[in-house]
Amino acid sequence: MEENTSNFIRPIIKEDLETGRRDQVITRFPPEPNGYLHIGHAKSIITNFDLADEFNGKTNLRFDDTNPLKEDTEYVEAIKEDVKWLGYDWDGLFFASDYFEEMYNRAVILIKKGLAYVDDLSQEEIRELRGTLTEPGKDSPYRTRSVEENLALFEKMRNGEFANGEKVLRAKIDMSSPNINLRDPVIYRISHTSHHNTGDKWCIYPMYSFAHPIEDAIEDVTHSICTLEFEDQRPLYNWFVEHCEMESKPQQIEFGRLNLTNTVMSKRKLKQLVDEGVVDGWDDPRMPTISGLRRRGYTAEAIRAFVRELGVGKGDGAVDNRVLDHFVREDLKLKAPRTMGVLRPLKVVIKNYPEGQVEMLDAEINPENPEMGMRQIPFSREIYIEQEDFMENPPKKYFRLFPGNEVRLKHAYFIKCEDVIKDENGNVVEVHCTYDPETKSGSGFTGRKVKGTLHWVEASQAIPAEFRLYEPLILDKEEDEVDNLKEDGKTFLDYVNPNSLQILNGFIEPNMKDISPQDKFQFFRHGYFNVDPKHTTADKFVFNLIVSLKSSFKL
Ligand code: ATP
Ligand code: MG
Ligand code: MG
Repeated sequence: MEENTSNFIRPIIKEDLETGRRDQVITRFPPEPNGYLHIGHAKSIITNFDLADEFNGKTNLRFDDTNPLKEDTEYVEAIKEDVKWLGYDWDGLFFASDYFEEMYNRAVILIKKGLAYVDDLSQEEIRELRGTLTEPGKDSPYRTRSVEENLALFEKMRNGEFANGEKVLRAKIDMSSPNINLRDPVIYRISHTSHHNTGDKWCIYPMYSFAHPIEDAIEDVTHSICTLEFEDQRPLYNWFVEHCEMESKPQQIEFGRLNLTNTVMSKRKLKQLVDEGVVDGWDDPRMPTISGLRRRGYTAEAIRAFVRELGVGKGDGAVDNRVLDHFVREDLKLKAPRTMGVLRPLKVVIKNYPEGQVEMLDAEINPENPEMGMRQIPFSREIYIEQEDFMENPPKKYFRLFPGNEVRLKHAYFIKCEDVIKDENGNVVEVHCTYDPETKSGSGFTGRKVKGTLHWVEASQAIPAEFRLYEPLILDKEEDEVDNLKEDGKTFLDYVNPNSLQILNGFIEPNMKDISPQDKFQFFRHGYFNVDPKHTTADKFVFNLIVSLKSSFKL
């Protein structure tokens, strides 16, 4: 880990340990299992685990599953897989729902101290009486219920004697507090809904702001790291820890969330993209989910390096989505084998190459990492090149193939364009060339120079392959801009990029016949590609473009 990466939480923890305020560090990553993890969660995961690691502490994975309506075990399993894939091993694995009994007992403590009451007002009435930033709130007529009555009613709520919404339990704090969060927040509501973990045992469920500090304290979490929007809730967090008589006193620390340009990250929106079939699942390679990034071909190393480089601060401006690309290029540069693939094939016939002859050429697997060794590529009279590498009437400074011009075929020979074959519509369907045997790659030929070097694949042995090219899923809008579109009757779905996926059918080198899903390659002149694990079959390879070779964005 980079010691000097800026992270304002590190000195806080350091001081806590040095002054003896704490004798250990326990952090947690607390996802709600209501969707798949995204790159924003990766920031939280990496921050929590890295900080604990640095100070020999522990990190728990805790499912914050207190809302039965949206949660599902499918998400629990996916979240575990993603955290592991990112490279982290949790110490404790916990479910907030396992603490329901304890939470209930803590709420009873509040009632007994006269610090909580059962309220019969509806959600709307509560909202109306809550006041505004400039106006104090007004007391509910039920605020003065006796402790005995509150205890009896709360038990009846638990026993299922009331319908959804009929009653709530509220903390009794301060209806005129300048911090609206402290104006008697609701801490329990009735919901006759089965829970993925507790089934039908409970029909009352704790609210997040009450449950979270209790969960942290039960687990002896020392530093409870969350995103900035919880800053105003910190006094409430501390109020619950204190008045529920929790022995452990966790400290909430807020940091700036990760936002990316051209990207929506709220789980609600991501779920909508899945449910409406805009993408082919949570792991669609265009999704900012961890599973989508993995399927696209991003590596855990690159994601960790990216998040660490950004550091941890109080700002939450959007980071250019291309910054992550820089880190995946860095990571794959030495790891990914080089190969050649033709995405939009055009047949080239080399007229003076003997018919029926196939020779094997040697090529380095990765010139930047010679230890990876050599590969062999067949060459013969018929090859494929890229359609865009030939022009019949080229503009100035076009150095690729055109009638009369000579180019180098990577790892092979110089070829010269002699003739063009067209179909009845005038489209070029074949290019006829001659080659010069003197110019073989590696032979030391210096007789003349050519300006263009093309990639190619030998035709008779080429393996057909599908290439999937991607552009950002969301047009050039930031998430908060997208959120504010509702006024003109639009939703973020109006800002889905219609060209985010392009599918091409081409060819790859025959030496790739045994590759596996998730293998990554650098295709010469194209970029880094990943073998798609979902669509690749025994007889068809599908490649996802991870990133092109060059960035249009400078760090
Ligand atoms: P969503 O709004 O998409 O539902 P969430 O914040 O409700 O996301 P949780 O499952 O509650 O999702 O998040 C688990 C943890 O990840 C929380 O501590 C949360 O603060 C953190 N987190 C979520 N999104 C980001 C982000 N974009 N950047 C940093 N941390 C994040
Ligand atoms: Mg949420
Ligand atoms: Mg949340």
